[in-house]
Amino acid sequence: MSEWQNSFQRLECRCPVCGTVQEWQDECERCHADIRILRRLADETYLLQRRCFEALTTGEHFRAEQAAEQLAQIFPTPLYEMLSRFVRR
Ligand SMILES: [Zn+2]
Repeated sequence: MSEWQNSFQRLECRCPVCGTVQEWQDECERCHADIRILRRLADETYLLQRRCFEALTTGEHFRAEQAAEQLAQIFPTPLYEMLSRFVRR
């Protein structure tokens, strides 16, 4: 099991339907909503962050910009918008 999978297993998620906080699983333990998409989003976010930071450390600025822009598009949060602006500098 990778370092990411190990840390991922310890994280919790909040069901977007009923709000129950629980360990990652395919179905909400309370309302039985299918919450697999949350895990896919978390996986995609992790991969984009990792791609962005690796590209920054190797000087691949275009690749870093692409990853940061994707993050800001998927999650238009202040953090990812700031990262996107930082990478474009
Ligand atoms: Zn639920």
